Amino acid sequence: MPTFATSPGTRDILAPDAARWRHFQQVFADVVESAGFAHIIPPMFEDLGVFLRVGETTEIVTKEMYDFEDKGGRRVALRPEQTASVCRAFVEHRPVVPWKVWYAGPNFRYEKPQQGRYRQFDQVGIEVLGVDDPQLDAEVIALAVEFYRRLGLQGVSLSLNSLGDSGDRDRYAAALRTHFQANVDALSEESRVTLERNPLRVLDSKRREDAPLIAAAPRMANHLSDAAAAHFVAVQSALLAAGVKFAVDDRLVRGLDYYRRTTFEFVSTSLAAAHTAIGGGGRYDGLVAELGGPDTPGIGFALGLDRTLLACDAEGVFASPASRVDVFVVDAVGGSAATAICAELRAAGFGADRAYDEKSMKSQMKSADRSGAKVAIIVGEDERTAGAAILRTMEDGLQQTVQRGDLVATVRRMLGR
Ligand code: AMP
Repeated sequence: MPTFATSPGTRDILAPDAARWRHFQQVFADVVESAGFAHIIPPMFEDLGVFLRVGETTEIVTKEMYDFEDKGGRRVALRPEQTASVCRAFVEHRPVVPWKVWYAGPNFRYEKPQQGRYRQFDQVGIEVLGVDDPQLDAEVIALAVEFYRRLGLQGVSLSLNSLGDSGDRDRYAAALRTHFQANVDALSEESRVTLERNPLRVLDSKRREDAPLIAAAPRMANHLSDAAAAHFVAVQSALLAAGVKFAVDDRLVRGLDYYRRTTFEFVSTSLAAAHTAIGGGGRYDGLVAELGGPDTPGIGFALGLDRTLLACDAEGVFASPASRVDVFVVDAVGGSAATAICAELRAAGFGADRAYDEKSMKSQMKSADRSGAKVAIIVGEDERTAGAAILRTMEDGLQQTVQRGDLVATVRRMLGR
């Protein structure tokens, strides 16, 4: 028989990591729901056109998209990110603004798999549609910072930039094109190709031969309109007032074409160079209009779950949640006592597990150990006859015998609930 393994760039998330993932999303939900964000669950695939609006010079669209024709002849794509879906949903449902939503779930990009880079990867994120106010930009960023704090991460740095309005961005792109074209022989082969598509992305090049030209390139700061520059100053003041540390990096362009004005990126200082970016976001004031809606400003961020957990591992924080099994029932008299006791405990709100197949006492005790339960309940022949059970504290092995009728109350006392 052929056997199968996961496709390149995908993984099974098993225990205890799967519980950690859920906990991650729960902590995120707690942070953003307490700031007024509502959950949205967009579909995992959409009309290809939705994602084409993200930008036809954006790699995740041009090179990395899982797009295909479905059996009905529609061109669809697995979502490479969720901001475009949220904007499409906004245009479709026309909710009252400001519209504040959060999401969590997988995205798909045909990337070269490596540590911290997958073809199916998870993000959590927020989006706010309908607000221009620079105070919101600072608040959105501060929510990500608060989330990292709740995870226990300390080595996270924040880079901030403004890409200006679309006119500023176009003027800047033209200035960059002129600069790089004048020195095109000194550029790496890859950057020459990038230059053709999108001169801003040349600034992202990490190739050593490109460094001198990038260092000498025109600066975004000199191409901001007065309005965009004032907005950027206001965002920085609001961040300072909120006590959020940041560094302005006017080479920060980020991968998606739709960003306007504020852009930002979170980098883990605990991770190896190849995948230090753990989250990022920015304004995308033109995207809703691109998708056929009214002119509507938007801002948001997406944080990479897979990579953020790698950062947590590197810092030794945000451990997997403890087992939910409080009690393991060891039944040496056929199994029906375990059935009854588990049902009683679960109904009383405790986590209870057991063994099957009339395993030996020794094997059941091993299972009890593995389960992570704090207490084992043991029923042997003597206990069954006496209508009792043994309660054993797993940590120190101390045992006591109690009547069946007192089991739940005693467990409650032992677990301090
Ligand atoms: P982006 O949607 O490209 O702005 O990415 C936001 C965050 O998602 C990044 O900072 C990464 O942490 C994460 N991310 C993006 N692409 C991948 C990938 N292929 N594998 C794992 N994480 C990713």
